[in-house]
Amino acid sequence: MGCCAAPSTHSNQTSCPKCGQAGKKVDEVTLKSLLGSSALERRSETAHRFCSTPSCPVVYFGISESFTTDEVTVPVFQKQPGPGTPLCYCFGIKIEDVQKDALTTDQPSIEQRIQSLVKADRCACELRNPQGSCCLGDVKEVIRAARKTRDRELAGA
Ligand SMILES: [Zn+2]
Repeated sequence: MGCCAAPSTHSNQTSCPKCGQAGKKVDEVTLKSLLGSSALERRSETAHRFCSTPSCPVVYFGISESFTTDEVTVPVFQKQPGPGTPLCYCFGIKIEDVQKDALTTDQPSIEQRIQSLVKADRCACELRNPQGSCCLGDVKEVIRAARKTRDRELAGA
């Protein structure tokens, strides 16, 4: 390694090196908690962002390093959305649970349950959710999407 490394053109890397989408800053405790052991071993930077692009394999990126879905110990909701993928990582609520709930009641009890648990400070989003922040926005989004699909099916077919 030379001593005069070329100055990085990405000294303030805010967008994903793979897909170019802007990423959200995550606390390093999230990476420490969710990266697999070999990924943890090669993690050398101290600031990373989260890429939420569904088709992009990169989960976290720094200036010159990045980590992909196969290096994260849990499925990433935004990128690996199967029915069994967690939506609320803290309380183990899956995408399919929320979808079911969204279609059986108008006032989804799961959403209320998560809301009150968050309010009571019982969540651990920064340690458990790969995006490092609360899932409530995602929950609302899944509920909205599930109802939209149902309404379209009712109106059409
Ligand atoms: Zn990306």
